[in-house]
Amino acid sequence: MEMKINVSVLIKVLALQCLAVLCASQDFDFFYFVQQWPGSYCDTNKGCCYPKTGKPAADFGIHGLWPNYKDGSYPSNCDPQAPFNPSEIRDLSSRIQKDWPTLACPSGDGLAFWEHEWTKHGTCSESVLDQHDYFATALSLKNQSNLLRSLKTAGIIPNGGYYSLESIKSAIKDGMGYTPYIECNVDESGNSQLYQVYLCVDSNGSSLIECPVFPHGKCGSTIEFPTF
Ligand code: 5GP
Ligand code: 5GP
Repeated sequence: MEMKINVSVLIKVLALQCLAVLCASQDFDFFYFVQQWPGSYCDTNKGCCYPKTGKPAADFGIHGLWPNYKDGSYPSNCDPQAPFNPSEIRDLSSRIQKDWPTLACPSGDGLAFWEHEWTKHGTCSESVLDQHDYFATALSLKNQSNLLRSLKTAGIIPNGGYYSLESIKSAIKDGMGYTPYIECNVDESGNSQLYQVYLCVDSNGSSLIECPVFPHGKCGSTIEFPTF
């Protein structure tokens, strides 16, 4: 009899351990911190709409902070129980409007974009960053990473000119200390252009790191840096 109780306890313990392993697999290894160049979002066939608050500054804007695995895959939509709640980020309101503007059509106030990013990506790093800290961390990373200045120092400016992909990567590496991943899209004439810059961040959201893995994609060897 005593033996039977022990076996059932053992089974329960094992079941809990399996559950813990399953839950842990919801975790992640690092973040991509992704910024978008508004000129390249806007001059595609799809076009863009300025936010209701007006034309954003001619600067990189935040797209998102995305939990990722070292094997290149990533979790998404991890917690339907954690809806986006704008009142939790009220104190960040002016900074988020300035640094995380929405360019999708129709014109919006940004809430739909931030909600999408929280629901798809932010809910997968809740073990480390709650909703307020998720947005505050992205804003602070934006503050630490002046991409436009790094590029300008190397003579790379958003003037509609063409620059080698290598020169863009090394300008950001020299300015930031870490090698970025550059994502391109194409303008209305089909030219490859600088669309998004990915930097990697440790799983606490506290420091930039070298990327454990880069996304795959295609840019020309020379790409356009459009005006905005
Ligand atoms: P696309 O298919 O346009 O490259 O990406 C669409 C969306 O999928 C992105 O905006 C982002 O939400 C997600 N995504 C694409 N690639 C990655 C990636 O490498 N890591 C993560 N975490 N999300 C990604
Ligand atoms: P992701 O590609 O991150 O999964 O999805 C981006 C979603 O946010 C899309 O539904 C897109 O319409 C919306 N969105 C709103 N504003 C922006 C913006 O300024 N840039 C991008 N890339 N997506 C935006």
